[in-house]
Amino acid sequence: MAVAKRNWAGNQRCVPSHVHQPRFTDEVAAIVRAAALAGEKVKVIGAGHSFTDAAMTDDHLLSLDAMNQVLSVDGNDVTVQAGIRLRDLNQELFTRRLALPNLGDIDRQSIAGATSTATHGTGVGLGNLATTIVGLEIVIGDGTVLRADEKHEADLLSVARVGIGALGILTEVTLRCVPAFNLHARETVEPLVELVTDFGNVMRSTDHVEFFWMPGSRRCRVKRNTRTNEPARPQPKLGYIRDKWIGENLAFGTVCRVGRRFPSLAPKVAKLVTSEPNERELVDRSDRIFCSPRHVHFVEMEYGVPFDAVPDALERIGRLVAGLPFPVMFPIEVRASAADDIPLSTAYGRESGWIAVHQYVGAPYEAYFQGVEQIMNDYAGRPHWGKMHFQSSLTLAHRYPEWGTFRDLRLRLDPKGTFRNAYLDRVLGTP
Ligand SMILES: Cc1cc2nc3c(=O)[nH]c(=O)nc-3n(C[C@H](O)[C@H](O)[C@H](O)COP(=O)(O)OP(=O)(O)OC[C@H]3O[C@@H](n4cnc5c(N)ncnc54)[C@H](O)[C@@H]3O)c2cc1C
Repeated sequence: MAVAKRNWAGNQRCVPSHVHQPRFTDEVAAIVRAAALAGEKVKVIGAGHSFTDAAMTDDHLLSLDAMNQVLSVDGNDVTVQAGIRLRDLNQELFTRRLALPNLGDIDRQSIAGATSTATHGTGVGLGNLATTIVGLEIVIGDGTVLRADEKHEADLLSVARVGIGALGILTEVTLRCVPAFNLHARETVEPLVELVTDFGNVMRSTDHVEFFWMPGSRRCRVKRNTRTNEPARPQPKLGYIRDKWIGENLAFGTVCRVGRRFPSLAPKVAKLVTSEPNERELVDRSDRIFCSPRHVHFVEMEYGVPFDAVPDALERIGRLVAGLPFPVMFPIEVRASAADDIPLSTAYGRESGWIAVHQYVGAPYEAYFQGVEQIMNDYAGRPHWGKMHFQSSLTLAHRYPEWGTFRDLRLRLDPKGTFRNAYLDRVLGTP
């Protein structure tokens, strides 16, 4: 019997006719070959943590959860099966005294799902996760298996690092890691006005800087993570439970529920929770600092804009929120990352500032997200491929100088559109 699949936020759903759990590349290739011959579509779902319908299909849905092994280690280059979850990967790397150079807020995604949408963390000198890929294996539209690395098929490698599932199914990736490192984490509460007037210096003040701003509030929660040789002195378990589980999840979830039920109370309570002056400082291994549990479910939109545009954009979003007919219960997250050279990377060719807006599941968000998107359009903003947005190939093509390179490769690798779905038809057009 067909079973419905949902994403993490619960805002996307599909009922695939077939669900597959392959264990080897050959099995993936056979599934794709048979589907292509029958004129059916194939998609892979990673951890289902995209807010868009990027991984949805009513035909064949593959989960690579059983393809989760570390295959080889060559110096800092680690080859893994594409279905491995970041959390398991981080642990495997740690046991080999290695780490990924940067990570986002959570570690639940699969490596291929995360890189396919250009998932990123924060750090002006650091690229997104896909920039660490130096080799890959991919099953293309007719079931053929291709391999690419820096020496062979370098063009394929370059483009397929961020493919949004449109070019084929990644079955293996080789990641260029770095020696394991600790981070000195410092969390403070600082005035918004200081953060935006000195935005460039603030974001460059150390390796990884991000801040959270509740529109309407004058203060922000700032996280600064600095690479260090200091030994780990993690937060005691009780403090961690208080801050991460109770503060960031239980209490915050309660605020959101209250806000959804009694919208007029929401702004006051939300400001209290997000800017109470609870400052933290600790040293721990990098992945434990970068990633936190997220149990309060939300919907999210995130845009990459030219770095210097962030202060102006934030000011405009503040005015937009003040005029909305409903409260915003989640803080806005601001991050930064380096430019890269991956054609469909949201940071292609430009150092990027990131502005992410969220809303509690079930609360109204459309007018908020649409208003933010209009502001982002004025900066040629590029939406995160895994997060909500209302763009189409017509509005996006000119924001990516190498759009044509991607389109041509897609036509070569998947001429019949075996990997198509509604999301790709909207954002990339039909092949
Ligand atoms: C709570 C939460 C926190 C988040 N934090 C961040 C963050 O800090 N930074 C950030 O940038 N993003 C963040 N995201 C977004 C998330 O990282 C991306 O949406 C990511 O793509 C999800 O990975 P996944 O494994 O769940 O992939 P899915 O959502 O399942 O799939 C994403 C896309 O990848 C494709 N895909 C998956 N596997 C393969 C494969 N083997 N070969 C080819 N294509 C494949 C799918 O078909 C789909 O198109 C967050 C999301 C949530 C829900």
